[in-house]
Amino acid sequence: MAKRDYYEILGVSRDATDSELKKAYRQLALQYHPDRNPGDKKAEERFKEINEAYSVLSDPEKRAQYDRFGAVGVDVSDLGFGTLFDDLFEGFFGAGPRGRRTRGHRGEDLQYDLEVGLEEAATGLETKVQIPRLELCEACKGSGMEPGTKREVCPACRGQGQVRFSQGFLTVARTCPHCGGAGEVNRHPCAECRGEGRQRHERLLRIKIPAGVEDGSQLRLAGEGAVGTRGAPPGDLYVLIRVRPHDFFVRRGDDLYCELPLTFPQLALGAEVEVPVLGGTAELTVPPATQPGDVLRLKGKGMPSLRGRRRGDCCYQVVLEVPTKLTAKQRQLLEEFDRASRDERGPLLASFVERMKKLLGS
Ligand SMILES: [Zn+2]
Ligand SMILES: [Zn+2]
Repeated sequence: MAKRDYYEILGVSRDATDSELKKAYRQLALQYHPDRNPGDKKAEERFKEINEAYSVLSDPEKRAQYDRFGAVGVDVSDLGFGTLFDDLFEGFFGAGPRGRRTRGHRGEDLQYDLEVGLEEAATGLETKVQIPRLELCEACKGSGMEPGTKREVCPACRGQGQVRFSQGFLTVARTCPHCGGAGEVNRHPCAECRGEGRQRHERLLRIKIPAGVEDGSQLRLAGEGAVGTRGAPPGDLYVLIRVRPHDFFVRRGDDLYCELPLTFPQLALGAEVEVPVLGGTAELTVPPATQPGDVLRLKGKGMPSLRGRRRGDCCYQVVLEVPTKLTAKQRQLLEEFDRASRDERGPLLASFVERMKKLLGS
């Protein structure tokens, strides 16, 4: 059988650089790796082909020979296909140190974004969420095999999980690329899960959100991610909390801040005003002579702390609202007020006038 051209197999030009070769090989090898295509004969053949092409072209001497004489110029009978793969991808498919593979891999971690209101974040809540995740295939109980069939001893490594090859004077053992080190192959993959041993399911999970969570808080639910393959442990589920913006409050630490617009008479005379708190309203005392920018607090009405027992405060930052329209009566009263207070200076104004005098040198 005529062999396909090595350059063609890797999809690179004849003058491809080493890094171009490596890149092309990496991509293809990942795509056709047996772990990703369990039971797919064509992918397996392609994987071998890719390995062969790369093992020749990545060796300058063999590449030169191949360029001059074609495949007949290069002896590929003793190439350790596992070698290159392990060198390039060690750890990628859960390979242990020195290519010793575990049989399955841990399930993937999952993330779920949960939006909550500020009130819910303050009280904590218990809720149910629907999580799509990979669970054990019911048809094969996770084995990945058609019921009644067995795994067969891997013909490439005769069940050793490793292949040996010579490199100069050395004989080196590497993980068998055919079976991924398992020593056995699955010739009758389960039709339900295509040999993966896992299937997608929607799972309704009850989750408990503690009081005090912040926007961006992440809860870890150990073992609630995707199930592992071949008995490996499951991944974790991370619930990412998103707190919806509130009509009044912005959270800073465990305190809640709200802008409170007040009038000049309210600031000057003091007032009792109704203000929002979490889940309702409360009375706030504005003391006489309150200044714009002052922060008035309702102690312990803020967010519960995730870490301690202390609760934050509700903080009201005073904003002075100046009327934009005045009735004749209001104007008259204000002018009267102005005349009555002409000779009085508050500390800010007094200090300002002092500094102006200095500036004018008098
Ligand atoms: Zn199955
Ligand atoms: Zn094998």
